[in-house]
Amino acid sequence: AAMVKERVAAWKQWLRAVEVVREFEESFETPTERLQRVVNSLAIEMFAGLASENASKVRMLLTCVDRLPNWNEEGIYYAIDIGGTSFRVLKVQLGAGYTIIDKKVQLQPIPTKGTIEDFFNFIASTLKNFIEKEGDKGKALGFTFSFPIEQFSITSGSLIRWTKEFSIEEAVGKDVAQCLNEALVRNGMHLQVNALMNNTVGTLALGHYYDKDTVAAVIIGAGTNACYIESNEAITKGQGLLTNSGRMVVNVEWGSFRPPQIPLTPYDICFNNETQNYYDQGFEKMISGVYLGEIARLVFHKMAQVSDVFGTAVDGLAIPFTLSTPCLAAIREDDSGDLREVGRRLEEHLKISNVPLKTRRLVQRVCDIVTRRAARLAAAGIVALLQKIGRDGTCGGTTRVRRITGMPKRSVIAIEGGLIQGYAAFREYMNEAVGEILGEEIAATVVLRMVEEGSGIGAALVAAAYSSNQHNSIH
Ligand code: BGC
Repeated sequence: AAMVKERVAAWKQWLRAVEVVREFEESFETPTERLQRVVNSLAIEMFAGLASENASKVRMLLTCVDRLPNWNEEGIYYAIDIGGTSFRVLKVQLGAGYTIIDKKVQLQPIPTKGTIEDFFNFIASTLKNFIEKEGDKGKALGFTFSFPIEQFSITSGSLIRWTKEFSIEEAVGKDVAQCLNEALVRNGMHLQVNALMNNTVGTLALGHYYDKDTVAAVIIGAGTNACYIESNEAITKGQGLLTNSGRMVVNVEWGSFRPPQIPLTPYDICFNNETQNYYDQGFEKMISGVYLGEIARLVFHKMAQVSDVFGTAVDGLAIPFTLSTPCLAAIREDDSGDLREVGRRLEEHLKISNVPLKTRRLVQRVCDIVTRRAARLAAAGIVALLQKIGRDGTCGGTTRVRRITGMPKRSVIAIEGGLIQGYAAFREYMNEAVGEILGEEIAATVVLRMVEEGSGIGAALVAAAYSSNQHNSIH
């Protein structure tokens, strides 16, 4: 009788954990119809953001990029790419006629705290050493800075605010290109910034270099964002920045979008309490690498609070940000029958050992749910871009009723970012959702193209375009 009682008790514990996961799954559902409404809301915000500053939840920053490289650029260019957990210095050698002859990349961890002068000195001296080692003088320097910046020209712009848990407060409001230029001078260098841009813009430039049908770029890495080519007629704000080239790349900053159709679950809310930008960056917190692992950890923590499925030594589960997103991806991707990798990761990262197989399955399911919502929301973002430029097969704009007006032109979206690059399940869920929202026929006109190192190489390409005499406006 005692044994039966014990078994019943264990079973009850188990059911409680399952219930947590079941409820979590339900609250994370994103049926197609709901995604369609997310698309419409984001497209509306994009329209509003082009009308005036602060009119929208997305900033729709004018990037001043009205030229993209046109394959005539030649020579050696350097780039600095700051954005995620590391920063890169790059050398790119271009040959006329669509060739990246050579590229070298050096990766470096980045200080996320300290003084602004230290920060830029560190970057300038790393570049200096890199150039000295390479032994080649560069023709121009591209600078990718992957945070919201208000651009005054192609070579200047001030930081609006930090995201992705960066916090060098005194940098806010400063012209980051000028800060870098000054640090370059302090380090005895002649090179100055020829093009300052967001990482999405670099990715777009590289995507466009490969394929002229590239209309937009998306980043899904530590953070998430998108940019696209907009026609000047659609832009009512910032008239002073528009040129007679007729088009400009717009940095959406979609991370700050809060999709009203997606309920904030207790996990999202609690999570917002732990992070830097409280209730901001809603879309980013549901999609990107800094945050996904943390959502899963919160669910595991809840499971541990209501049941004993993780045993008793569960202190590790209470510590914020101990489960990284690469770890979440590895758990989701473990396809060994006995989920050995899941067990190993739980032990290594969360310090819980001997987790039985059925609990490991539950853990994997949680990681899958987190990934699926993220990927499907990213898909909704992509379709919103297409809707904004009239490539989604509706009559354009914000109509809620889909009226087919003929087949849209082929549209390529360049995609990159640490999260999506190494995560097949994410890409599959995203592709699947784009198909669901657009319908297979329209989806067949859309190419989601993964590019690598776009934010860095693209910066060199844009710098090349702006330092050459030829004016190659975007087509
Ligand atoms: C930043 C964007 C950036 C994105 C991807 C976001 O947190 O606000 O500017 O493009 O991360 O790195």
